[in-house]
Amino acid sequence: MTATIIDGRAIASEIFVDLTGRVHALRRKSVVPCLVFVMIGDSPPAKMYAQRLERLAQPVGICVRRCVMSEGMSVAELEHQVSSLSADDTVDGVLVQMPLPESLLNARLSTLIYPRKDVDGITVHNAGRLYLGQSGQQPSTAAAMVHILDHCQVPLAGQHAVVVGRSNVVGHPIAELLLYRDATLSVVHRQTRDLPQMTRQADVLIVAAGEPNLIKPDMISSGVVILDAGINVTPDGLRGDVDFEGCSTLASAITPVPGGIGPVTNAVLLKSVVRSAEHRHV
Ligand code: NAD
Repeated sequence: MTATIIDGRAIASEIFVDLTGRVHALRRKSVVPCLVFVMIGDSPPAKMYAQRLERLAQPVGICVRRCVMSEGMSVAELEHQVSSLSADDTVDGVLVQMPLPESLLNARLSTLIYPRKDVDGITVHNAGRLYLGQSGQQPSTAAAMVHILDHCQVPLAGQHAVVVGRSNVVGHPIAELLLYRDATLSVVHRQTRDLPQMTRQADVLIVAAGEPNLIKPDMISSGVVILDAGINVTPDGLRGDVDFEGCSTLASAITPVPGGIGPVTNAVLLKSVVRSAEHRHV
């Protein structure tokens, strides 16, 4: 079997077409959707991410503003800045650069961002809604994966979905979303005893571990659908967590890295900003 390569850039383009029309309608009512990216210091990866968001948002008509904070700021300063942005009527989304430096880990971001503006689903309010199966702002990568599965018409009810990784950013939320789609679910992680024995059972395999080449062909079954969220900088370039070449010969469909989950995640994040702007006066 040779896998269908899932084209994340094409799926993202379709989302942007929809967003362009929605933003046009908002602008006619003088509402300009606005995302503020709170950067802590100006590290090259954070700058690159900000530039990418700006490049994607600009043609759609979404405004992206950078709020650059000093790395040495206090927890109180970060909390005050995030609260002010959240209270600003012209701001529809507040995205804070993660992971936070150790000195800021105690910042109460999960309760400070107004739920509508919590475009990456980090607050306790939105996490609670996700775990109760209710609508709300969801972590973008998890929401992007469900979007891709639906787009590719991958059946989920009764299928065995195996999620590798249990972070609050990716693994845990996608696991919850798959449960609500009636998948039979296994979540595996670093402490799991026999990883290959688990991954071989997957009809749908979601990988978000942050370890290049973790999933090899002898760890999967023929026909599996693989979504690889991993982003690893290696001497051979950007790689996911899955041995793409090896697993492509066995899987029925697979996302590449780059060009798979990442572009759809960015599109879904900006869609959350537009949804928030649509509810500005509701
Ligand atoms: P994390 O370090 O917070 O969590 C990693 C999880 O994987 C943990 O639960 C850990 O137990 C598990 N894990 C790690 N090594 C493992 C192993 N050998 N066997 C089994 N489980 C293992 O990471 P994260 O924030 O969830 O990110 C995971 C990956 O996804 C990273 O490469 C990150 O860059 C990428 N990511 C991509 C996007 C995107 O939009 N494409 C978004 C967020 C994160």
